[in-house]
Amino acid sequence: MSEALVSVKHAVKTFQAGKGMFGQKRRVHAVNDVSFDIIEGETFSLVGESGCGKSTTGRLVNHMLTPDSGEVWFHGTDISGFTEKQMRPLRKEIQMIYQDPYGSLNPRIKIQNLIGEPLLIHTKLSAGERLKKVHELLEVVGLTPMHGERYPHEFSGGQLQRVGIARALTVNPRLIIADEPVSALDVSIQAQVLNLLGRLQEEYKLTYLFISHDLSVVEMISDRIGVMYLGTIVETAPREELYGNPRHPYTQALLSAVPVPDPTKEKKRIILEGELPSPVNPPKGCLFHTRCPYCQEKCRQERPKAVEVGTGHTVKCHFPDILRSGAAGIGQP
Ligand code: SF4
Repeated sequence: MSEALVSVKHAVKTFQAGKGMFGQKRRVHAVNDVSFDIIEGETFSLVGESGCGKSTTGRLVNHMLTPDSGEVWFHGTDISGFTEKQMRPLRKEIQMIYQDPYGSLNPRIKIQNLIGEPLLIHTKLSAGERLKKVHELLEVVGLTPMHGERYPHEFSGGQLQRVGIARALTVNPRLIIADEPVSALDVSIQAQVLNLLGRLQEEYKLTYLFISHDLSVVEMISDRIGVMYLGTIVETAPREELYGNPRHPYTQALLSAVPVPDPTKEKKRIILEGELPSPVNPPKGCLFHTRCPYCQEKCRQERPKAVEVGTGHTVKCHFPDILRSGAAGIGQP
């Protein structure tokens, strides 16, 4: 591990959301002051409930979207204001793996042509060289050259995700953004695909931005994790630290809902009261204050900044020390 390959600095992204009752324009605050680094060679994961802004953040990193304010740096360059022409040479460096591989592949095109397509766009390889590379990649992801002759509908979900991974690898990317890559798969297949991603990371020196709602999946693959809530990262920590010593009440509630494989161990589920606020009208002060069991007056008024509570461990909370002992042992601050 060395320097940051990706740096997102105070990124904000809003979208037009129609008009209110009195004709006023409304905006969805999808990403709300998000900052993180991804170190070359690591897997950084963004985790949170559906609609928390993690996929929008992924699209800011690959420049499918541009931030309203803030910056996105890739390999030492601020790409936030890049035009599509400026992005073109970088496109092959940042590849995507999607949740629904079938939806992202043209059903009328043979697998070998789908995998070879990025080679046609980004390289000057001959047709024979492209096919050779495609066959190699099919084997790398656990398929065979014979699979290249087939069409997407002839594959299972797990096989199609392997095709999606092969396609992402064709042009030797530095960064792969995997957006819920295993959430549509059976649990047994999930483990196979995660193992494959782990092996390929070592072989190809890849950096991953892994996006998921599933904390069990994220635990299997991540080096560091950012927990998102209502468009912002409320806690960032190395994996062991986050799972062993969560400091934000939202992270504690999420982790309390993860099933434990050992039936002799009891776990107290933390149920959050209150509705998830609308991203059209995010609350003043701490974004989590409407559901936080430890909310104080200061939380209703002031938005907390990220404070460091350990090595590489930051939390957006006014009272991180009171939350140190974990949910079960906390009294009201
Ligand atoms: Fe809860 Fe206040 Fe901390 Fe927000 S700042 S998480 S409301 S204690």
